[in-house]
Amino acid sequence: MDAEHMGDDLATVMFTEEQIQDRLRELAEQVWADYHDKDVLLLGVLKGAVMVMADFMRALPGSAEMDWMAVSSYGSGTKSSGVVRILKDLDTDITGRHVLIVEDIIDSGLTLSWISANLRSRGPASLEIVTLLRKPEAAKVEIDVRYVGFDIADEFVVGYGLDYAEKYRNLRVIGTLAPHVYS
Ligand code: 5GP
Ligand code: MG
Ligand code: MG
Repeated sequence: MDAEHMGDDLATVMFTEEQIQDRLRELAEQVWADYHDKDVLLLGVLKGAVMVMADFMRALPGSAEMDWMAVSSYGSGTKSSGVVRILKDLDTDITGRHVLIVEDIIDSGLTLSWISANLRSRGPASLEIVTLLRKPEAAKVEIDVRYVGFDIADEFVVGYGLDYAEKYRNLRVIGTLAPHVYS
């Protein structure tokens, strides 16, 4: 789905496909410099991180494993509840593994902070985070994120895996919605 297929639902395009891909390639190079000599396990959080995982992973100049976890924290609204529940756990035993969480966006940080604590308790050799987007002004907890694509303003964005009420995940760009969509 392209921006022009959004009619007047899209207010602004924040990042084009090219900007997203260029930044993911840079992140992949950075990550590979740190992980080329390790057996890295990429851990995606469904469903938002699907596009980031697919493109980031293919931008890596070497092989990596992936696994997925599904949690609920948002419902269909736009505000984090802070309540996290595991809907689907990992298939992989991460004890002694080098785990890199692949995220679409860090907003309040509440979800990721909970996931990080949960994963740490399983004894990985290392645990780091790569996220395409981060909203520094929205942070409610301190999270040490090693690789960040773009810091953005505290606005709700959709596209490239990010939804509003399960819609717009297949939009190629990342953008903001017009006010009438929310009402
Ligand atoms: P947090 O717990 O950091 O507040 O948010 C966690 C999850 O909420 C993200 O992984 C994402 O699924 C969703 N989320 C946070 N901010 C946005 C946003 O601007 N747009 C969309 N579509 N989802 C968001
Ligand atoms: Mg996410
Ligand atoms: Mg969502």
